Amino acid sequence: MKKNKQIIKKIALSRIRFLFERADEIFPKDQDLANRYIELCQAYSRRANLKIPKELKRRICHSCKRFLVPGVNCRYRMQSRRGKGSHVTLTCFICNNKTRYYIKKKNPKIRQEKKENSP
Ligand SMILES: [Zn+2]
Repeated sequence: MKKNKQIIKKIALSRIRFLFERADEIFPKDQDLANRYIELCQAYSRRANLKIPKELKRRICHSCKRFLVPGVNCRYRMQSRRGKGSHVTLTCFICNNKTRYYIKKKNPKIRQEKKENSP
């Protein structure tokens, strides 16, 4: 049974990636079809109990669940604050929803300490 679930997840992930590629291709011609592909992706991920990979998830609006293409129906803005790290704000033009995600800053001090501790 355990092996079966792994196979289902593998198939679902490959289908999700395929559908995202097709959605990217078809978007300039037919936006409704691209949105339909995204709906199917979400259905596959629910069915297989699988998370959509980060880089793909950020191309779906969190609120209206539509496919986002930067410069066409969404906008990316990067902001940095000293000490707090920087974040990217993603604005959807359809529903005006703003999603914010943080970018982790690599700490050079931690790296040096790790190098010193390791033999
Ligand atoms: Zn939206």
